[in-house]
Amino acid sequence: MAVVNEKMEALGKVRSAIRDLFEYGLQRAKIVGAENVYDYSLGNPSIPAPDCVKDTMIELLEGDSVALHGYTSAAGADDVKEAVAASINERFNAGVTKNDIYMTCGAAASLTISLNALVCPGDEVVAVAPFFPEYRVFAQAAGAVFKVVKADTEKFQIDFDSFEETVGPNTKAVIINSPNNPSGAVLSRETIDRLCDALRKKEAEYGHQIFLLSDEPYRELVYDDIEVPYMINEYDDTLVCYSYSKSLSMPGERIGYIVVSNRMEGNTDVFAAVAGAGRALGFVCAPSMMQKVIAKNQGKTSDINAYRVNRDILYNALTGIGFEAVYPDGAFYLFVKSPEPDAKAFCEKAKKYDILMVPSDSFGVEGYVRLAYCVSKDKIERSIPAFEKLMAEYK
Ligand code: PLP
Repeated sequence: MAVVNEKMEALGKVRSAIRDLFEYGLQRAKIVGAENVYDYSLGNPSIPAPDCVKDTMIELLEGDSVALHGYTSAAGADDVKEAVAASINERFNAGVTKNDIYMTCGAAASLTISLNALVCPGDEVVAVAPFFPEYRVFAQAAGAVFKVVKADTEKFQIDFDSFEETVGPNTKAVIINSPNNPSGAVLSRETIDRLCDALRKKEAEYGHQIFLLSDEPYRELVYDDIEVPYMINEYDDTLVCYSYSKSLSMPGERIGYIVVSNRMEGNTDVFAAVAGAGRALGFVCAPSMMQKVIAKNQGKTSDINAYRVNRDILYNALTGIGFEAVYPDGAFYLFVKSPEPDAKAFCEKAKKYDILMVPSDSFGVEGYVRLAYCVSKDKIERSIPAFEKLMAEYK
């Protein structure tokens, strides 16, 4: 008999490529100084949470401490879920009620709970490349076979030929993420319409529901007048996995939610399965103080404009030097084409100039690198000469 679950042991021993780079950056900072390490590895918000978050926390801390720190209902406090539903309906007119909402510890928990709620033995879960690498971990841990729809590397929309080949009779769920980590692309209205039609056709063909998990931690991080369709209004079998980690710059506070669309067939059973998965995984009663904080700050965001400034400086500078990059409409990532086929080799060369970038392989696409531009504007500006030197190696 094995001492521990070997799959879990392996997961715990292999650090993600992103974490490895981040640790490397910390070591380099000790040698050359933090200001000289151009660390674009981690998607940790660089813009502070808005003042209203701090003000609400102070106000709450001055109130009844027993109520503040006590348990809420497993799915979250009723008044919190009412505030969340009201805000969703005000923005998207989606007919969501408090009974459709399950409060969670961020998008990661929203995804693992949803996947554990839906996946039965033999089911497949499909993600669209490029994707957040933890999708694979979450889907496999829930017992699913993980499959990937290839990326359209022109505009990073969905490659529908690959979609047709990949989504089959065993597909239980498809995960989308728009605005996207790592490409920064937003799925267009045309793509969303095509996706929903294709899913409905597949459901009719196979005679069962195919759930859409819309992973939305970057929903509010869009920089121009870009539409990000609210998937509950587009496709009935939708679960929205939301998080305040990025919109309110509070990733360490672990707060988000799942919405199970009340328009799907069997929605009360699906919600019960979500509650059951939350229970089985120990994800009951999301942090009570944070529930109250977000309830009071619906519709608020950090100063997202600062990311737009960063995007413009970095995109213009890198494309000016000769790099090819996808123009990002949202999130805080720039996806740059590696000037050599092996993105890992390119990232290794970049380390010589203390530029830290993540090769795209772990996102399910080859030949790109991800730059998380949630760093200071000053650091971006100071990093440009280092990129010039790096590019000179390829000329
Ligand atoms: N999904 C995507 C696409 C992400 O980029 C992240 C975090 O970076 C998560 C989910 C996890 O978010 P959270 O910190 O809210 O768990």
